[in-house]
Amino acid sequence: MTGALRALARFLLPNACVVCEGAVERRHPDALVCRPCLARLRRVPRGCHRCQQPLPPVGPCRYCASWPDELASVRSAVWLGAEARELIHHLKYEGYTALGAVLAGVVVRTVPRPDQAFLVPVPLGSRRARERGYNQAEVLAAALAVRWRLPLVTHTLRRVRDTRSQTALTPEQRGANVAAAFAAASPPPQARKPHGPPVILVDDVLTTGATLAAAAAALADAGWLRVGAVTFARALPYALRAGRGWGVRDDRRESSIGVGISD
Ligand SMILES: [Zn+2]
Ligand SMILES: [Zn+2]
Repeated sequence: MTGALRALARFLLPNACVVCEGAVERRHPDALVCRPCLARLRRVPRGCHRCQQPLPPVGPCRYCASWPDELASVRSAVWLGAEARELIHHLKYEGYTALGAVLAGVVVRTVPRPDQAFLVPVPLGSRRARERGYNQAEVLAAALAVRWRLPLVTHTLRRVRDTRSQTALTPEQRGANVAAAFAAASPPPQARKPHGPPVILVDDVLTTGATLAAAAAALADAGWLRVGAVTFARALPYALRAGRGWGVRDDRRESSIGVGISD
C-alpha cells in the first residue's frame, strides 16, 4: 500500500475502540475508547464514609470492618462492569499503557482531589513485574499525578514476597495471601506531622481490600500516619451483581458518568 493509500485508509477507517471495537469519533481520531463506552461506566455512589461501599439496610458497614485503622479512606471511580473490566484488561495484559490517561481522566471526574498527598502505586511482585514489563497501577498513578498535580512516589512501598494471583481466592484466603507481602520506607518529615500529607495508594481494581489493607499496614509500620487509597474500579457487590439487568451493556438505570475524552 502506498503512503497516500494508507492515509486514505486511516481517514476512512478511524481507530477502533478497545472496548467495543466500534469506531471512535472522527473528531478524536487518536482516542482509544469511544464516547458511548465511556458513558456506560457506572460511578460508584457515595456510601460508607470510610470505604464508599453502599451501606447495608441496617447496621454499620461490613465491607471495611476488618481493615486496619490506618486505612482511613478508600475511594473508587466506577463499578467493575463490562466496560471497566475491558479497559483494565487492555491496560494490564495488552500493553495499552496509554489507557492510563483515560482511566485517570475518569478518576479525576469522580473522586475529589486530595488537597495534598503522596501518590503511591500498589507494587507488583518482582516476578509479575518482570513478566509484564510494567505495573498497571503505576501507569495509572503516574497519569493521576499529572492530572491532580500531586507527587508520585514509587520507591516507598515494595513487595517483599511474590503472592499468588488473588483472582480465584476467597476473601479469607486473600487476606492470608497478602499479609506481610509489603515493606515500606519511612516517610519524609512533613508526613510525620499529624496533619501532614497522607499517602494515597493507587490501584486499578478494589476487590475485598485485602491488598490495600496489607499495604496500609506496612506503611503504618514504617511510620506513615495517614493512608488512603484510590482505585479506578471496584468489584460489584453481590446484591448488585445478582440484580436483574446488571452488567447488560444497554442497562442505563444506574448513574453513568458520561465522561468526555477530549479534555
Ligand atoms: Zn466503544
Ligand atoms: Zn465501609
